Amino acid sequence: VKYIYYMLPTLGSRTVAKVVPAELYKRMLKKGIAFHRTALTDLQTSREGELIGGGVDAHEFWGLPDPETFQVLPWDTEVGRIFCTAYDPPHLDEGGGRLIPLDTRALFKAAHRGFTERTGLELRSGLEPEMTWVGPGIEVVSKEDQSPAYQVENLEKMRPVYKKVISYGQALDFTMIQGDYEDDGQIELNWDYDRAELTAERMTTYRQICKQVARELGLQASFMAKPYNGKMGNGCHHNLSLWRVTGDGEDENVIEDGRVELHATETARHAIGGMLLHTPGSMLVMGSTVNSYKRYWDAGQFAPSGADWGLDTRGVAIRISANGRMEYRLPDASVNPYLSHLYLLAAIEHGLEAQLDPGDPGEPSAVLDGVVVPNTLGSAIEAFEADEYLMGAIPEELTRIFLQLKRDEWARYCGQISQWEFDQYWEA
Ligand code: ADP
Ligand code: MG
Ligand code: MG
Ligand code: MG
Ligand code: MG
Repeated sequence: VKYIYYMLPTLGSRTVAKVVPAELYKRMLKKGIAFHRTALTDLQTSREGELIGGGVDAHEFWGLPDPETFQVLPWDTEVGRIFCTAYDPPHLDEGGGRLIPLDTRALFKAAHRGFTERTGLELRSGLEPEMTWVGPGIEVVSKEDQSPAYQVENLEKMRPVYKKVISYGQALDFTMIQGDYEDDGQIELNWDYDRAELTAERMTTYRQICKQVARELGLQASFMAKPYNGKMGNGCHHNLSLWRVTGDGEDENVIEDGRVELHATETARHAIGGMLLHTPGSMLVMGSTVNSYKRYWDAGQFAPSGADWGLDTRGVAIRISANGRMEYRLPDASVNPYLSHLYLLAAIEHGLEAQLDPGDPGEPSAVLDGVVVPNTLGSAIEAFEADEYLMGAIPEELTRIFLQLKRDEWARYCGQISQWEFDQYWEA
């Protein structure tokens, strides 16, 4: 290895990195590497000219590498990469050496550790990111009134893509399990569930793999939530289970009780109660872009929009798809996986602690009475601010900057005049 990327995830869904010749790795392990704070905020100046997260005057932070995350890139074995944790530089008079609250990866790890200390449980998850590919050779073959889903000829068009993605995934320690073709240019390739922080990390890595494969094949690969009207959006279901770790290899899934018929155990019901109660407040994280909400408005495309749950039905926010796992279906593929897990964990803990009961599917529930899922980024911002419980789950500085970014994104969007408005109103 001759070069190493020192990487961190942003508040959105991107990854930032610096490259350093590998011979300096000892120095880096000790001292870390400096980044400008705005690297993590995806945007430096708002529409109103406000500086995001301190802007030009913001302090640098130090990315201190986590050695256990080191991996060699399978597409160029001269290059390695390592995830870093963000600290304030030690020379700062106040709070030097402190973890900086814009590092969602570090925040989720700490939150999960706290959850395990309090409950004795570990969150394990499996994500299902869908994504859209475009470019020469992958045009769709189906007819107008026929679904392109699962057709082998469509899968065949994606053969160069899935072969590369699966083999890079395997080289980077993913257990790749299956894949399918779902809508025009849209595929989903799954890997096995694991401890939630490893799954979140793999989601970040998966994006990097797909972008690399797109470069190699002269294609474009997008995790945008809803690229086309009338086509399926790119979801990212979060499959969740809770484990009591025994250390003797006999870990126990506490939301499974051995009964064969499809059901939710009492513990699962409490977790579901918490997740549904906090769905409005966490929507800004699960659907974090203006475009995320277009999934819910396009009828007939299987995207859920209510705070509800059910057994083996795809029209709800949480589905029990198999005993022992809860499928949270609201997030889309542009999600920040560290923040989504952090919020789900906080909501689950509330549900377990307060023994919240979401009622039977389709029945009214006292816990969920009046719970309405936001259907635009604007209403998600309001619901986020209204959920005091979730506000307590993340540091105040992160809340403030995240809201600043999202309010700005919403304002920029609302300030745009679209083609639809011309078509609708020009002649009126
Ligand atoms: P779907 O039927 O919703 O399309 P997939 O088979 O595409 O589901 O994906 C299911 C995901 O759930 C996989 O990543 C799988 O590893 C994960 N999974 C399976 N069992 C569990 C579990 N007990 N806890 C968490 N995730 C799980
Ligand atoms: Mg799936
Ligand atoms: Mg799918
Ligand atoms: Mg789908
Ligand atoms: Mg699914």
